[in-house]
Amino acid sequence: MKKIDLLVVGGSAAGIVAALTARKYNKNASIIVVRKEGKALVPCGIPYIYGTLKDPAKDIIPDKLLLDKNIEVVVDEVKSLNKDEKTVTLSKGEKIGYGKLILATGSVPIVLPLPGINLKNVFTVIKDIPYLQGLMAAIEKARDVVIIGGGFIGVEFADEFRKRGLNVTIVEILPHCLQLAYDEDFCVIAEKKLTERGVNLKTNNKAEEIIGDESGKVKGVKLSSGETLKADLVLVGVGVRPNTELAINAGLRIGEQKGIWVDEYMRTSDEDIFAAGDCAEKYSFFTKKPSALRLASIAAREARIAGVNVFGLRRKNPGVIGSFSTIIGDLALGVAGLTERQAKEAGFNFVTGSATVLDKHPGAMPECKEMRVKLLFEKASKVLIGGQVAGGPTTAEVTNILAALIEKKATAEEVAIFQYGTHPALTCSPINYQIAEAAEDALTKF
Ligand SMILES: Cc1cc2nc3c(=O)[nH]c(=O)nc-3n(C[C@H](O)[C@H](O)[C@H](O)COP(=O)(O)OP(=O)(O)OC[C@H]3O[C@@H](n4cnc5c(N)ncnc54)[C@H](O)[C@@H]3O)c2cc1C
Repeated sequence: MKKIDLLVVGGSAAGIVAALTARKYNKNASIIVVRKEGKALVPCGIPYIYGTLKDPAKDIIPDKLLLDKNIEVVVDEVKSLNKDEKTVTLSKGEKIGYGKLILATGSVPIVLPLPGINLKNVFTVIKDIPYLQGLMAAIEKARDVVIIGGGFIGVEFADEFRKRGLNVTIVEILPHCLQLAYDEDFCVIAEKKLTERGVNLKTNNKAEEIIGDESGKVKGVKLSSGETLKADLVLVGVGVRPNTELAINAGLRIGEQKGIWVDEYMRTSDEDIFAAGDCAEKYSFFTKKPSALRLASIAAREARIAGVNVFGLRRKNPGVIGSFSTIIGDLALGVAGLTERQAKEAGFNFVTGSATVLDKHPGAMPECKEMRVKLLFEKASKVLIGGQVAGGPTTAEVTNILAALIEKKATAEEVAIFQYGTHPALTCSPINYQIAEAAEDALTKF
């Protein structure tokens, strides 16, 4: 039986970063990454296969990244884990022994228990190239597409499908698309852009049944409003659940949000087994309570913690803030930390401040766009707890600045005078730098 120092199960955002990080801190350890798929996908790139990239083969993370660092890649499925023996068993019965194990088995899409869910041309978002090629073949022949779920996955697919000229409708049970990620004012901006891009929105509406024809192929979706939408393809994007089967069968502890329980060092209930990414339980940075957030950026950060700690505990996980961006046409939207709704639910009193400014200066600079920033500060301490941004291409990095300020617990006074840099073609003006202006606005309200 092969025995290695570190075995990583999962070869996506968490697995790759965990293995690469472990290598940085231990040049001599034997490291293997086992993953099911022949090729590793860029998971967040999946929607862009269908309008921008036009081919699943372009959405790949090359194995070279790992091979160049002397990390072995095994394409196989780990069928079971024996934590007492410290072995895993692969699909053909081969065993691998490990010194330390990192579980990075990710998540799988939630499948709605809807009548008609198994009809031909009903898809979910499975991170697997052959499956995504099947979706590509179907989309090439489709005309009317219904997307069930108006979260960021549904919205990104809708925008990409529109680039192919398809008739696209999003069905969302909540009053607004993106409502779990942004406050209503930002959802309204997003919905205006989606509508401008030609996406039909059926919000406050539940998909009740997927209807098929005699050949077993989808032909429509029946809504709670009584309306039936014509569809020759349905995409269901209603979230994911942690992939914890291996961990459960091995007797590892599971958390409240159904992820593999981990401590702040990313250790599971077995101290030689770590977990990172979508499969691992998350804890809120703000409340320390279990969190349902699952993002590639969180997976990578947890992997940087687990990858180091397998060879000696050094890094602690401060919990998830959640920094995320998306784009609809030329409108980018970002969020870091808590929205107003989330802050209220968590029990915070807060003050908001906003600014709407141009993202270059002077305004006559080419491709100058309006940027809106809203910040939330906890009322008593004046500490930044959340921010939302809508604007042009710099939105994502402005959002990441907010995430860093939140993590460092910057106060409104500190945010108003943090040292930023500006350039006419690249940023807002120093006179009304968006983050500082929004903090100044909040300071007038405490
Ligand atoms: C369409 C879409 C768009 C997204 N966009 C964004 C975005 O823009 N930004 C963002 O931050 N997040 C985004 N996400 C979320 C992000 O993709 C996930 O958070 C991320 O993929 C989690 O990475 P992971 O490594 O934990 O798990 P996964 O990506 O789910 O990977 C799990 C890995 O484990 C392997 N595996 C599982 N079980 C076994 C087994 N038994 N044996 C061997 N291998 C196994 C799989 O083969 C795979 O390699 C998006 C998700 C989707 C679906």
